[in-house]
Amino acid sequence: MTQSNPPAVAHGKCPICGRPTDTKYRPFCSRRCADVDLARWLRGAYVIPDQEDGEEGEAEREGPNEPGSGSRH
Ligand SMILES: [Zn+2]
Repeated sequence: MTQSNPPAVAHGKCPICGRPTDTKYRPFCSRRCADVDLARWLRGAYVIPDQEDGEEGEAEREGPNEPGSGSRH
């Protein structure tokens, strides 16, 4: 077993821009990147499915004019 812990374990990479992270804004490098990630996350969380607000009910109404049923000659 060889434990090779990197000394700079606290320094990671910002997942947004790839720059070294700041301990203040881990795991991001800056507040801006943190906001970016948050925004992405929120957008993913608030994913809105196709909301078809169609009023179903009167879509299939039986019309009085049925083709082929009237005796109009
Ligand atoms: Zn960044």
